[in-house]
Amino acid sequence: MKRALIKHVLSSPAGESITTGGWVRTRRDSRGGFSFVELNDGSCFASLQVVVDAKLENYESEVLHLSTGSSVLVEGILQSSPGEKQATELHARRVQVLGLAPDDYPLQKKRHSFEFLRSQAHLRARTNTFGAIGRLRSQVSFAIHSFFQERDFCFIPTPIITASDCEGAGHLFRVTTLELENLPRENGRVAYERDFFGEPVYLSVSGQLEGETQALALSNIYTFGPTFRAENSNTSRHLAEFWMVEPEMAFYQLEDDARLAEEFLKCIFRHVLDRCGEDLKFFDQWIEKGLIKRLEVLAEHDFEMLSYSDAIDILKKSKKPFEFPVEWGRDLQSEHERFLTEEHVKGPVIVTDYPTEIKAFYMRLNDDGRTVRAMDVLVPGVGEIIGGSEREERFDVLKERMLKQGLSLEDYQWYLDLRRFGSVPHSGFGLGFERLVQFVSGMENIRDVSPFPRTPGHAGF
Ligand code: ATP
Ligand code: MN
Repeated sequence: MKRALIKHVLSSPAGESITTGGWVRTRRDSRGGFSFVELNDGSCFASLQVVVDAKLENYESEVLHLSTGSSVLVEGILQSSPGEKQATELHARRVQVLGLAPDDYPLQKKRHSFEFLRSQAHLRARTNTFGAIGRLRSQVSFAIHSFFQERDFCFIPTPIITASDCEGAGHLFRVTTLELENLPRENGRVAYERDFFGEPVYLSVSGQLEGETQALALSNIYTFGPTFRAENSNTSRHLAEFWMVEPEMAFYQLEDDARLAEEFLKCIFRHVLDRCGEDLKFFDQWIEKGLIKRLEVLAEHDFEMLSYSDAIDILKKSKKPFEFPVEWGRDLQSEHERFLTEEHVKGPVIVTDYPTEIKAFYMRLNDDGRTVRAMDVLVPGVGEIIGGSEREERFDVLKERMLKQGLSLEDYQWYLDLRRFGSVPHSGFGLGFERLVQFVSGMENIRDVSPFPRTPGHAGF
């Protein structure tokens, strides 16, 4: 079946003979003896206006039954349109109805709430918002790969099934082939020796540790893949399954890491401004007023940098009635992050050098002995979008920190080996892909930027 995408039809010159297909958004019948059918195929935001003459043989039997959601193939001639909304319209010579959508089609033309549309996840990609999100996600993914490929980063997939459990204690999904109703036991404990891998394994919460093994050989690498966290946080920024971009760079210190993160985000902003104009216009009008201007400004201005200690002082001086106490040594809560980026800096801010106790064991210890070379990138509306650090490359220091945290040196022998054999300073970060899409679309809830959101209690349609 040869058919042109509506995106291409709309940029074709009048006079061309065209076959196209799609789903009906609306049908309007004019008394002058024809109908107007708005056709959308998701290839672009705009719909194509199809003009159907009442003289077509299946006009009364089929065309007059075309309802919202029905699918059709149309052959016709593209002509310039007298209407204001479009430059061209397709004058149908033949309309082939493929599938009618009866009256109980859930997406009638009025605006639906996002809550309602979540209950129609199998159909919502046909709406303006979710079509735009689908195209935007695709362009952002493309921009991510381009950014790293153009800078000679090597794309390395890190494993989805992993035996490393240090990072997400309590937030891990287990992977097993053991029968849960009939677990094999030995000496009162589960006999994991008899499980598929012979030991407990999990879905990965991050590819970083494995990524380091590759960076210390290939120099600059990145992974971009699915990540799983069983955290029971029912927020507008957490999913149980999300995609993460994790570059890891040999010979990078924290400042280099922060500079790369900033350049990376700006590059994405410029890419979507260049390539997703129509979709962004829609988001700007219906989701977040001023979105395009915001992205344009962000793409040009330097991000601010702030140490955690300075951030604590700023939060204390703000005299804001925060729900969670502000105190050196405690993690920044979402409300604190939002204050810093939305009210204090009024733009993206990179917070560095967090207290050792609240950050992971692999982050490089500062000379003060109580902070580590960590950085979080905070942005308005979302809060933390990137978390990264310079990694501890000194064998003795790393070993001591692992022992302090009760990690098994045996399990992480391979990780320590990287520091025994040709260690170099290195750094990296993790960017949550869906949070990035939230930020560039203005969408409030992360469940609405993923086509198949997985959240506590919800893994289907
Ligand atoms: P948060 O404090 O917001 O829960 P985190 O500190 O646990 O995030 P990291 O472990 O630093 O996050 O992960 C790196 C990035 O992955 C985060 O900056 C964020 O963009 C994204 N991210 C983390 N958890 C989730 C989640 N559950 N759903 C979607 N994105 C996430
Ligand atoms: Mn983090």
